[in-house]
Amino acid sequence: MPNFKRLKECVVTNKNVIVRVDINVPVVNGKIEDDTRIRAVIPTLKYLAENKAKVIVMSHFGRPEGKVEPSMSIQQLVGRVQELLGSIKVSFVDDCIGDKVRSAVDATNYGEVLMLENLRFYKQETKNDPEFSRNLASLGSLYANDAFSCSHRAHASITGIPAILKSAAGFLMEAELDGLTNHLEHAKKPMMAVVGGAKVSSKIDLLNSLASKAQTIVVGGGMANTFLYALGKNIGKSLCEKDLKNTALEIIETTKKHGCKIFLPFDVVVTKKFEQNSPCKIVSTDSVQEDDIIVDIGPLSIAKLTDELQNHKTLVWNGPLGAFEIKPFNIGTESFARSAAALTCSGKLISVSGGGDSVSALNSAGLIDEFTYISTAGGAFMEWLEGKDLPGIAALNQ
Ligand code: ADP
Ligand code: MG
Repeated sequence: MPNFKRLKECVVTNKNVIVRVDINVPVVNGKIEDDTRIRAVIPTLKYLAENKAKVIVMSHFGRPEGKVEPSMSIQQLVGRVQELLGSIKVSFVDDCIGDKVRSAVDATNYGEVLMLENLRFYKQETKNDPEFSRNLASLGSLYANDAFSCSHRAHASITGIPAILKSAAGFLMEAELDGLTNHLEHAKKPMMAVVGGAKVSSKIDLLNSLASKAQTIVVGGGMANTFLYALGKNIGKSLCEKDLKNTALEIIETTKKHGCKIFLPFDVVVTKKFEQNSPCKIVSTDSVQEDDIIVDIGPLSIAKLTDELQNHKTLVWNGPLGAFEIKPFNIGTESFARSAAALTCSGKLISVSGGGDSVSALNSAGLIDEFTYISTAGGAFMEWLEGKDLPGIAALNQ
């Protein structure tokens, strides 16, 4: 459990409080498609404003790579923040450092919110430039990190500011750290880890780390193809990282060494074309044809998996079990999610999930609220699971 200071332990009244949030939401033609990340930080902003702090909000938005990009201006998000904060006044300044920003801060009253422009309009943000950090830090006297999802990055607004200012975890950060610690670090055993998604290459560290923590590891999604291939099965034209054959075999060895069971699909859904409404069928992993593409885990594997899940007390899940964006290749992921949700609701299972696509799959299945804990973070959630120290969290402890 990282030992960190919580916002409620700090005096905030009549203070300039810098809050780093992650409101990097999807915007199409100026319209916010999903405001989950904005809603998630509202409690922190509201608390600070209601306790008469001057709330200085900073975030990145998109990848402008150090240049001013009007399409990635935070200004587009200000209206939504204002709507959600109701009577609390929200204003915006179109820069994040310099005299203009200082004047805007001076013009903001205690109990109000000032949103700064996209931090990544400056390349110094991702380079963790000390002078840029000093300029940002000079705007406040207390720093709250409410961006768990960015805390695996040593950027100026994540690690630079807390090296200068007194710092605390915002409410979302606190919820993430408490949720992950309570449910996973102190997990009720046995624990099943389900790892899916597209590529083994992005999850090698995760699999190796889970081998020592979980009692069962399930490999699903496109990743499973690489494992099946490594074990000598024909996978046709499926997504596969053939060069990772030995890595897959090593992971299998590592799990065995830790006495952890590894579960691979033994039936799969195959199609000839990777597209919607392309005819598909269920086959054993022993009878995949040369021109087949594996797109989902099969129903027999799901049934067996659901059965196995009953013998576990905790589930940690990252990565869909099939190409869920294309229907009906979402069926495997959804039916497994439904089983996990049902076990959770009956109090038999602690279920935790995280990852961009995993959360989106659970969202479209309408199951988000049925899981014990869902992390809003992708990369940071993964690195936490990998047992790595997140620089943003470490910085809060200094
Ligand atoms: P997360 O964002 O939750 O960490 P990933 O990004 O690792 O998950 O993986 C999600 C992607 O994996 C999705 O785009 C999904 O379509 C893809 N995927 C899953 N199974 C397959 C498969 N059998 N073939 C191709 N892509 C797959
Ligand atoms: Mg993803």
